Amino acid sequence: MMSSNVLDHIGNTPLIKLKYPSEITGCEIYGKAEFMNPGGSIKDRTALGIVLDAEEKGLLETNGQIIESSFGNTAIGLALVANAKGYKLKIVMPNITVPSKRDIIRNMGAELLLVDAKPYSDPGNYQRVAERLAKEENEKGNKVFWASQFENLANYKFHEKTTAKEIFDQTEGQVDGFTCAIGTGGTLTGVSNGLKNLNRNIKIACSDSQGSSMYNYFTKGTPEKKGNESITEGIGQARICNNLKYCNVDMSYYVDDKECMEILYKLIKNEGLFLGLSSGVNVMGAIKMAKEMGTGKKIVTILCDDANKYYDKMFNKKFLQSKNLPIPNWL
Ligand code: PMP
Repeated sequence: MMSSNVLDHIGNTPLIKLKYPSEITGCEIYGKAEFMNPGGSIKDRTALGIVLDAEEKGLLETNGQIIESSFGNTAIGLALVANAKGYKLKIVMPNITVPSKRDIIRNMGAELLLVDAKPYSDPGNYQRVAERLAKEENEKGNKVFWASQFENLANYKFHEKTTAKEIFDQTEGQVDGFTCAIGTGGTLTGVSNGLKNLNRNIKIACSDSQGSSMYNYFTKGTPEKKGNESITEGIGQARICNNLKYCNVDMSYYVDDKECMEILYKLIKNEGLFLGLSSGVNVMGAIKMAKEMGTGKKIVTILCDDANKYYDKMFNKKFLQSKNLPIPNWL
């Protein structure tokens, strides 16, 4: 395959049948292999969608600067898109992220500012720091673009246009349900709207991680935290950011860290899928959705990234023991 540049390879990822989840539910469960994007995650799409939209709206100058807050994958996606298009990039990240993510961002030549992990209500929160930095630069007359993945609706719209359409086409329209977890909500909001526009009978579920407030939001109407802080990264949400306001959800499932890790280790050993933490929540959510919908249904979820960035958690016996989580028998 020949292409003009690396950005042509964002999206159009394969849909892989998940053997064990399908067998135990009597459904066909598929995972969209987003770890196969050039930056290694679903967030390449968000990065490209936001930058294309900003270019169209004249918000980015030639060789201009992008500022963004990220837990890692959006930063990697943005570094790839910014480098390929000639923009500078500054990332604000909480210091609780795994070191491997920070290294990738620095090694890709982006500027990285690490801040203490604070709730959104605190002005020191990484998202609020990025917003403030962009504002200060713009006030000084330096035109800087704040990507704002949580608030910028270009995030979900790109998933509506690409991820949802690909899932519908790859299943030849025969998809009964879709589920994934929420970080910014870009994926779930985009896919929910895209699929329901094509067939309003397709069911959409939120799969929520431990310590997040979305399960309670979709079941009881108020975003209230459920369970202790999760070891997963990039997912879990406590507030209704802009990208979540348009989310079209029918049902919701809670997935704790133990269930998440158990399915991740099974997928490694039984099917050769070496997936990152959030994919465990997604696949476990798809199993719960399949059980509720009944046998014979076709359900799709997202395989967001791979396990390479999470060695310090997923394959660290001491860490797993300290969190009372299952330890794979090959460790
Ligand atoms: N999984 C991983 C590994 C992520 O980095 C993210 C994004 N933060 C998500 C899932 C959630 O995607 P979204 O922001 O579209 O809700």
